[in-house]
Amino acid sequence: MVQSADVVVVGAGVAGLVAARELVRAGKEVLVLEARDRVGGRLLNEDLLDGIPIEMGGQWVGPGQDRVLGLIAELGLSTFPTHVAGQNIGEFGGKRSVFSGRIPKLNPLALADIGQAQLRLDRVARAVAERDPWLAEQADKLDGQTFATWVNRHAYTPTGRAFLRLVTEAVFSAEPEDMSALWAAFYVGAAGGLDALINTDGGAQQDRVVGGSQRIALELAAELGERVVLDAPVADLIWSDDELRISAGRTVVRARRAVIAVPPPLAARIRYLPGLPGGRDQLVQRMPMGRVIKFNVAYREPFWRAQGFSGQANSDTRPVGTVFDNTPPDGAPGVLVGFFEGKHADAASRLDPEARRAQVLKDLVGYFGPAAADPIAYRERDWAEEEYSRGCYGAFATPSTLTRFGPALRTPIGPLHWAGTETATRWAGYIDGAVESGERAAREVLAALVRSRTTVI
Ligand SMILES: Cc1cc2nc3c(=O)[nH]c(=O)nc-3n(C[C@H](O)[C@H](O)[C@H](O)COP(=O)(O)OP(=O)(O)OC[C@H]3O[C@@H](n4cnc5c(N)ncnc54)[C@H](O)[C@@H]3O)c2cc1C
Repeated sequence: MVQSADVVVVGAGVAGLVAARELVRAGKEVLVLEARDRVGGRLLNEDLLDGIPIEMGGQWVGPGQDRVLGLIAELGLSTFPTHVAGQNIGEFGGKRSVFSGRIPKLNPLALADIGQAQLRLDRVARAVAERDPWLAEQADKLDGQTFATWVNRHAYTPTGRAFLRLVTEAVFSAEPEDMSALWAAFYVGAAGGLDALINTDGGAQQDRVVGGSQRIALELAAELGERVVLDAPVADLIWSDDELRISAGRTVVRARRAVIAVPPPLAARIRYLPGLPGGRDQLVQRMPMGRVIKFNVAYREPFWRAQGFSGQANSDTRPVGTVFDNTPPDGAPGVLVGFFEGKHADAASRLDPEARRAQVLKDLVGYFGPAAADPIAYRERDWAEEEYSRGCYGAFATPSTLTRFGPALRTPIGPLHWAGTETATRWAGYIDGAVESGERAAREVLAALVRSRTTVI
């Protein structure tokens, strides 16, 4: 049966759901086609044990993320702070240090090096994020090099460079060699600086959503009701300037406009008839997803707190480079969340599940001692194995992509509009960016629908 709508939205992640909600509020007939049997995309709650939800995808929100914080409040959800009390553990340059606050104990030369490199990065990032990054004064220079080249030029000590590699893996789940320095600068600038990205208290890891972040998507979908169609992977999209016909499994929809709210590499897997302009296709050919395996490990209690640790640990040598306390707000069970990121995810994905779990526990024991060897629950998710994500946290641009094809990221093509966190101007890659992109795409569609009505009259 062919269904009709004013607008069809492809993808029921936060971006698509927000776009759909705005369009419905403006009185449009909307259908959301979602490939999976659930909504939320890169947001996913799983049962940790005994009905306690835990996030296997995106989870934290923080200051400056006004759009997602506003949405959380509007949906009647609430947040609670990530546990930060206690000492952090850092293993940098072959030395373990235990420290309070944000600055690890390092030799003064390495600390000064990291400080000056961060200052430079923040300065260039601010300039890049003031307008579209491909229009920035230094765009050509930055886009002509990988972020690794930039780091090697601007950090002078081995520890400084190793620290920035760890930061790149933790923030992008990719290696500095993978991405354009312009993309790295844009991403940092779009968040308001490197501190905003890496800090817990006062930064992007500050707060969590009570009941798990997927609730944002679940609440949005509940408002949209039957307009959200699950198990509907969009395969073919036939378009002309004023009409679309979309096939998704057994669902076929005719619509006037479409919002494609999927990450760039997945947007490239849809067959468009006629084919999209070459520039758009070249862009999405050059924007791969990062690679991450996330795990949550539960213990009877957060034993590290009693030992004076916050649960936050980082290492520039261990496969598990980043760990946080992910205990629910009522304090039980104790949960540690961690990640294999970038090349560490490549290696970990080649292990069988038992060996991977053993590697996780080995690193947790290395950080927190023998009590970490004895969990009561273990959950992991390899996002590159997900057919409708194919990696995470997000897509990034390789060198010479933004300067050559950047405008194609957001520019509509006929009746096709592009959303998804990768298209955001602020907090790209984050839930907040997904909200921004959904709102922007909805505004574009509404303006286009008004224009087409005026033309007909
Ligand atoms: C492990 C992990 C940790 C993260 N941590 C954080 C964090 O702490 N804080 C934060 O802000 N962000 C975090 N992120 C990123 C955050 O989750 C994303 O930025 C955000 O959820 C992206 O939303 P989106 O709507 O743009 O895309 P998605 O959530 O990817 O939504 C796209 C949707 O499109 C669907 N789809 C794909 N192809 C098709 C098709 N052909 N037809 C129909 N549907 C299709 C997908 O199934 C999906 O539901 C994390 C992500 C991961 C995976």
